[in-house]
Amino acid sequence: MTAAPLSTIGIIGGGQLGRMLAVAAAQLGYNCHIYAPDERCPAADVAVAWTRAAYDDAEALARFAEQVDVITYEFENIPFEPVAALSKIRPVAPNPRALQIAQDRVLEKSFVDELGARTAPWAEVNSLPELEQAIARVGAPAILKTRRNGYDGRGQARIHHPADAASAWEAIDGQPAILEGFVQFEHEFSIILARGFNGGTVSWDPPENVHANGILDTSTVPAHADILAQYEEARALTLRVAEELGYVGVLTFEFFAAQDGPVFNEMAPRVHNSGHWTIEGAVTSQFENHIRAICGLPLGSTALTGRKVEMRNLIGEQANDWAAILADPDAHLHLYGKRVPRPGRKMGHVTRVTPYMPINPDR
Ligand code: AMP
Repeated sequence: MTAAPLSTIGIIGGGQLGRMLAVAAAQLGYNCHIYAPDERCPAADVAVAWTRAAYDDAEALARFAEQVDVITYEFENIPFEPVAALSKIRPVAPNPRALQIAQDRVLEKSFVDELGARTAPWAEVNSLPELEQAIARVGAPAILKTRRNGYDGRGQARIHHPADAASAWEAIDGQPAILEGFVQFEHEFSIILARGFNGGTVSWDPPENVHANGILDTSTVPAHADILAQYEEARALTLRVAEELGYVGVLTFEFFAAQDGPVFNEMAPRVHNSGHWTIEGAVTSQFENHIRAICGLPLGSTALTGRKVEMRNLIGEQANDWAAILADPDAHLHLYGKRVPRPGRKMGHVTRVTPYMPINPDR
């Protein structure tokens, strides 16, 4: 075991994922110490301690590491070297190599390609002439994505026709990027698994994910039959990657369900928005199993608690509807404590679980 209950878990990143990890950790008798540079952060609101410092402040990171028993992260756009250096002070899980791969689309695609993934045709792009060559090779339509720091559809530009090259290059500010062929798909889904220190693995049913404006809108379980038919292949790839990396914690892979099989989209070395439904919809949530995994505890069951589970994100002003949402007695409302409902900002989510058999006459 790396950390028994009553120990302190250090979480790098202060968003809603850190907040839900800290709540799950508290339930198991752990304390959490958050490391984040923000002025306010959802995770620090529910943790016992907070170091407010920059992600590349090696001294502050080392002081933080000395005050905790085990370290994890909830955000992948943090510099790799300072985090990797912390493993000399305290155990860091997942292993920072996963962070290094997941934060760079070129490393990520090359890594999964080598392990036999089906990926969209892609090419590395570092200049406008390279983009033009890449379009000639990959074809159009295609999507130009920055190598780093892209999330929720940011840092992306669509290319409908080769003539769009210059405007797309400008739209991503000429940053190092990859060009990805446009995948024809009917559905999107994710594989979420947890792997413990002893190599034991559990995974949840694959949610079907629907995006709106590049941001996750809903995750539903069970997923469409087309997804279920591709689930084993997608899970096998995710498992291979977890094993190759000696991964400990929750790992998420996003896929497109295309005509000829699951196409890998991207990986997240952490708990994921498409797994929020597991809080009420599974016996053990992704957050709890992540805490269990990094602390060396046995992993909990991922069985469903109902026959259907739907999670819907509350983006921007949608969170203002909290009173109407609560009027539905079956809705589990989660608000992240963010003050300003900026457009595109994830403010909370709602989960509804349809029970297997309503036996309570009050229902
Ligand atoms: P990403 O940030 O890479 O997950 O992209 C956000 C969303 O854009 C995805 O969930 C898809 O809906 C869409 N998308 C991304 N890459 C592709 C692709 N190569 N082909 C088709 N749609 C894509």
